[in-house]
Amino acid sequence: MVLEVMELLKEHLPVTQEPFVLSGDVNTGLVLVDVVNGFCTVGAGNLAPKQHNKQISQMVEESARLARVFCEKKWPIFAFLDSHHPDIPEHPYPPHCIAGTDESKLVPALQWLENEANVTLRCKDCIDGFLGCLEKDGSNIFIDWVKKNQIKNILVLGICTDICVLDFVCSTLSARNRGFLSPLEDVIVYSGGCATYDLPVSVAKTLGDAIAHPQELMHHIGLYMARGRGAKVVSEVSIKPL
Ligand SMILES: [Zn+2]
Repeated sequence: MVLEVMELLKEHLPVTQEPFVLSGDVNTGLVLVDVVNGFCTVGAGNLAPKQHNKQISQMVEESARLARVFCEKKWPIFAFLDSHHPDIPEHPYPPHCIAGTDESKLVPALQWLENEANVTLRCKDCIDGFLGCLEKDGSNIFIDWVKKNQIKNILVLGICTDICVLDFVCSTLSARNRGFLSPLEDVIVYSGGCATYDLPVSVAKTLGDAIAHPQELMHHIGLYMARGRGAKVVSEVSIKPL
């Protein structure tokens, strides 16, 4: 049943994807969305996977692979960390990624990023990372990062494809279209470097008022929405040899 639905969905809501080649010719920034224990590490919290999850593991592996490349080349990385005050819940979600706990820290495969000079870490207490970069004085540290590094492309990976990744991508595209993000041109979402959580219909039914969230389907819809708003979606990311 789910397979049939997926085939139908991909036929009627196609997401055109091409391979992407990273090169030093265009200033590119890597944006990692919430690759933290609370969303990625088995058993780490209310919103963490309950068991090994292939899509999430692949997303973490690809994030680590590309982070390594960006650090070797000293290219800029911007990493969001979902991070909440214990007394301020984020509806409609159960408590998760409380500031100062392991849940809001980068996964073990990415922890080394904390010590890299080309990496900007940003704790955010909302779904949309672009809004989460807004400071009280009206400045926005994501905008500052794009301008300081003269970034033309951002390559976006992380979790969840249809939630935090999508909201960040949509806001960034709107801000770019309004002229706030010059010289940013392209927002590139790497499908194999994104993941979402899995709550199949059969499981949701047993949990009372839980809303089903089938992983493959919602991942696809997230990519489809991102593309519809003007992001480029790419199927693979390779590195141009020097
Ligand atoms: Zn959150």
